[in-house]
Amino acid sequence: MINIILFGPPGSGKGTQASKLAEKYNLIHISTGDLFRYEMSNDTPLGQLAKSFMSEGKLVPDQVTIDMLKAKMERHPDVEGFIFDGFPRTIPQAEALITLLEENGEEILALIALDVDEDEIIHRLTRRGKEAGRADDMDEAIIRNRIQVYRNETQPVYDHFAQFGKSHLIKGVGSIDEIFDGISQVVESRLDNC
Ligand code: ADP
Repeated sequence: MINIILFGPPGSGKGTQASKLAEKYNLIHISTGDLFRYEMSNDTPLGQLAKSFMSEGKLVPDQVTIDMLKAKMERHPDVEGFIFDGFPRTIPQAEALITLLEENGEEILALIALDVDEDEIIHRLTRRGKEAGRADDMDEAIIRNRIQVYRNETQPVYDHFAQFGKSHLIKGVGSIDEIFDGISQVVESRLDNC
């Protein structure tokens, strides 16, 4: 299986690149943010819970997120692999993912981080807030909180996978195709080493 974590701060373009990767390598794209938004749009108990955290730019608690991810993975038993977008966002989530994959004799091939500086992030999220109307993009205080949470809780996940030589940082600024080329090169080089 090809299991890839697409990593980076909010607004770094993970979703766009994850869709392209899923298509190229025939993988299932799992975005925990999209899964939560789907629950919210259906006003389920999980959606209501997620909304109370997301609307403040906080992370949804680990166990809730891990259980949702596990259920989603179990719905795709015969896949060629997964692209994880927006997960793992904490060290406990990273450990849970490693264990989940190990139970099936699988592992993460690479964590690919999109490098985008903070001014660009704020600019992109503010623009997305105006264009797409996502509540958590429309308020600068919430955006700043998400960036702070990313620095404190999520960035350590990069180092966690770096210990195993699996983390790769690539330039997240440029055209969509240029960035995708950078990602594809990492995937190809990791596949060559397997
Ligand atoms: P972005 O990367 O732009 O912040 P996402 O759609 O990935 O957008 O995430 C939106 C929100 O959903 C996060 O701010 C958080 O509240 C919640 N969320 C998404 N993924 C996770 C996760 N793995 N753990 C906890 N909360 C999450």
